Formats: sequence, C-alpha cells, structure tokens
Amino acid sequence: MSDKYQLVVIGAGPGGYVAAIRAAQLGMNVAIIEKEDTLGGTCLNWGCIPSKALLDSSEKYYEASNHFDVHGIGVTELKLNFKKMMARKKDVVLQTTKGIDYLMSKNKITRLLGTASFVGKDSLMVSNSKGEISIQADHIIIASGSEVTPLESVPVDGKQIITSTEALSLEKLPKSLVIIGGGVIGVEMGSIYARLGTKVTVVEYMDRLLPTMDAESGKALQKSLKKIGVNFSLKTRVTGVSKSKKFVTLHAEDSNSKEINIESEIVLVAIGRRPYTERLGLDSIGIKVNERGCIPVNERFETSVKGVYAIGDVIGGAMLAHKASEEGVACVEGIAGKAPFFNPHTIPGVVYTWPEVASVGFSEEQLKEKKVAYKKGSFPFKASGRARAAEESDGFIKVLADEATDEVLGIHMVGPRAADMISEAVLAMEYRASAQDIGMIIHAHPTYSEVLKEAALMAHDKHPIHI
Ligand code: FAD
Ligand code: NAD
Repeated sequence: MSDKYQLVVIGAGPGGYVAAIRAAQLGMNVAIIEKEDTLGGTCLNWGCIPSKALLDSSEKYYEASNHFDVHGIGVTELKLNFKKMMARKKDVVLQTTKGIDYLMSKNKITRLLGTASFVGKDSLMVSNSKGEISIQADHIIIASGSEVTPLESVPVDGKQIITSTEALSLEKLPKSLVIIGGGVIGVEMGSIYARLGTKVTVVEYMDRLLPTMDAESGKALQKSLKKIGVNFSLKTRVTGVSKSKKFVTLHAEDSNSKEINIESEIVLVAIGRRPYTERLGLDSIGIKVNERGCIPVNERFETSVKGVYAIGDVIGGAMLAHKASEEGVACVEGIAGKAPFFNPHTIPGVVYTWPEVASVGFSEEQLKEKKVAYKKGSFPFKASGRARAAEESDGFIKVLADEATDEVLGIHMVGPRAADMISEAVLAMEYRASAQDIGMIIHAHPTYSEVLKEAALMAHDKHPIHI
C-alpha cells in the first residue's frame, strides 16, 4: 500500500518549501518531493543566493579598488582570489540549503528525493536512482519552477556558451564576457564580472536595459554601469555564433541591419526563463499548459483538476522568489479553509546592481497605456545629505500618484539600498497611502529614505524641502 498525505508538494524551491512549512504549521501531514539532492530550488542553489553572494564579494573588491581613495583610505597590493570568492559563495549556498533541511525536519515534513510524475489526480510516482515509490495525497501543489529559455541561434555548451548556472560557478575569471539579454540576470552578472575586471558587453534586443521596468530606471542604471566599464549594444538582434578553441564570436545586427561581430572568451545567454513541467505527466490528468508553457490557475491557485494546485515560476507572472513563497502561503491557507491573502499588484521587483534598482506598482509607461491621469514626483540622491556623506549620489526615487486622489500608483528607485527601501513603498501601496501620507511621515535624518519622502512631497504638490 502506498503512503498517503494530506498535502504533497512537488518541488522544494521558495514556492514549494514555504508552502510545505505553512501547511505543517496548520496541522497538515505533508510530504515534499525534490529531484535534486539539495533543497531550495533555483533560488538557493543556482539563483538568488549564489548571485547575491558574488554581487556582495565583487562589490567589496570594486569599492576597495576604486572608491576607498576618496575617503582617504589607501590600499596597497589589493589581490583578487577568485577561487576563494567562489568557495565562499559555495559555502553560503550550503549553509542556506542546510537551513531548509532543518526547517523540514523541525516541521515534521516528509522529504522524498526523486522526480514526481502524476499517475492519477491524487497519486504520484516518485522515481530516483534506487527505484520508484508511489504516494497518494488529498491535495497536490505543483511548484516545479522554471528553466533557462534557450536561444536557438546560440546553443549552450556549458563551457564557452553558458547560462547563469555556469556563470555562478566559473573556475577562472574570464578576460571577456558577452551577455545576451539586458534583463535582470544580464545586469547582475554583468556587474559581478565587470567589477572583477572582466571586459563585459551586454547585447540587448530592446532600446534599454530592464525593459519590463520603468524606462527611466533602465536608463539611469545604464549610466551607472557604464562607469564601472560595462559596454552595451542595444537594439541589437543576435543572428548566430561561431567558436574557435579560445574565443566565441557573436554575430548580430544593429537597428540599421548593420552586421556586428563581438569576440569574447565566454558568451552568457540570459534572455529569460520558462516554466518547467517536464516529466510531471500533466497530460495523464488532463492539465493543459498555456501558449507560454505556464500551468493556468485561478485566484486560489487551483488548476483545472480538483485537488491539484500550482504556484511560483511554473504559473508565470513575475518570476520572483518572494512571489512564489507568498503564493505558496496563500494556496495552503485556502486549502485549510482560511481566507487567503495575496495581492499581485504589490509585488516588489529588485535588481541587486549598484546602485540598486527597485520598484512596486505601475510604471509610467503602463499608466500612459492605461490612460490613467497621474502626477509624478522625482527626487535625486545627489540632493541627499546622507548620499553625499557616503559618496553615493547616483540615482533617484520617483513617486507616481493618481492625479485626482493622490493615491500612490507606483514607486521606482535607482539608488543606494533601494532593495531595502522599497519595503516602505510596498507598505504604503498595500495600505493605499496617498503621496501626501508618505510626505507627512517622519523619516530619520540623515537617511537615504528621506529621498522617498521628498519625492512624495514633489508628487503631492511640488513642494519638496531640499531642492
Ligand atoms: P524553483 O526555485 O525553480 O524550484 C522548483 C524546484 O522543483 C526545483 O528544485 C526543481 O528541481 C524541482 N522540480 C521540478 N520538477 C520536479 C519534479 N517533477 N519532481 C521533483 N522535483 C521537481 N528571484 C528573486 O526574487 N530574487 C533574486 O535575487 C533572484 N535572483 C535570481 C538569480 C538567478 C541567477 C536566477 C536564475 C533566478 C533568480 N531569481 C530571483 C528567481 C527565483 O530564483 C525564482 O523566481 C524562484 O526560485 C522560483 O521559485 P519556485 O519555487 O517557483 O521554483
Ligand atoms: P529577463 O526577462 O529579466 O530579461 C531578458 C532580457 O533579454 C530582456 O531584456 C529581453 O528584451 C532580452 N532578450 C530576449 N531575447 C533576446 C535576444 N534574442 N537577443 C537579445 N536580447 C534578448 O530574464 P533574465 O534576465 O534571463 O532573468 C530570468 C528571470 O529570473 C526573470 O524573470 C527574473 O525575474 C528572475 N531573476 C530575478 C532576479 C532578481 O529578482 N534580482 C535576478 C535574476 C533573475
């Protein structure tokens, strides 16, 4: 007889493992199935955590090489130990994934190692190198995540042409790197390697970086990244690639159809990610993916099959760890008969370059497209005393508010510690604050967050104090 659980979760990324913990907290008998040896999914193993470890290390190196002098600190014989930097990253990942092991056992969640496939609406086969087991469940959550979108004309070989996964584990610092895609991975990976001295070129199809974010943010980030030596080829269409033993030549065309050839040691393909549903056997229970490969769900994360739910990257939308986790919590609370809460309009997006880029709500382009009348207040970091004290004057904060009601509709930041400051913007939007509300709140002095207050005052009635 097969084991039976109240809830089985497929995939132990930030969507799956968080859903499993919340279900256990609510008293359910839970199992989680993961095909990889370590828990944590893309985010912990080859995504958020290793990339942030390398972003932090490379930033310290860049600061010491280029910015200490202005503070009166001289550094002699600064040395980069790339192997050690990578080893630290590996250790950070290990500690973090081990933390998830601990959370699974603390919450008495059964962990099954193997690939899960549906054999019925309430039954799964779990297969690994040792064999197969069959399990049953009242409820099943699919949290199988995403994989790299391939680019047909530039096939990945894992050595000279790589994805973000390999870029996070290089053994040797490349002298040159071409990145296809100026999205989030493109600018984060580009920052890591440019800071360490690699000649980086970002090739982007659109006319700006981060094309899904507010246009001014992408443009401001481009200026900052140019300062650290990143080169850009925007409005560029990649046509193919040729390889020699030592180099890769990327062939492309600019907006005037002029041929461009860029030679580098390594090419990184970062043109997006797509939902991963391989080997789940969705057909066998009648679940059809949509034209983008996503599993369609309703607002309670129910698929077309009763008792089967899906969350995280596999259902599309913003492919972000915190979105996956919150969907997991809401899905499980719905199963438990609680009133689930999940607001897709206040998911923050953060890009961990320096300066950082962060946003929540609508961009100006979206408001224009929706024909919403809005007011705009923007305030530069160069007018902030805190930013001057820290020599961090790049960037701005922009508040977009409804023309008639003053309600905040979107907040966009490029600047120091924007990743942390965006939480105030999320809170404001969640409670439907007006620009005036943010402008009236007392912000500690001197802090970067005063820039948000000033931008809000600017949006409210064009009366910021310090400009
Ligand atoms: P995943 O994390 O992909 O987890 C899915 C899991 O399911 C995987 O472990 C997989 O092995 C397992 N699985 C799949 N099929 C089966 C099966 N049939 N049986 C058993 N197991 C299965 N997001 C952020 O919010 N912040 C960041 O800073 C950030 N940085 C990133 C950096 C990089 C380089 C990348 C690639 C992504 C980054 N992301 C970031 C995105 C983030 O990693 C994803 O949005 C997040 O991991 C999605 O979570 P998930 O649980 O839906 O899926
Ligand atoms: P992305 O969608 O952010 O960016 C892909 C970029 O590639 C876009 O700018 C697009 O215009 C461009 N592009 C597409 N086809 C192209 C082509 N043929 N030639 C040139 N450019 C092309 O995707 P990504 O950067 O690969 O990241 C994947 C996912 O991982 C994203 O959804 C992102 O949310 C997530 N992620 C998040 C973080 C974070 O939250 N800090 C970090 C890394 C990754």
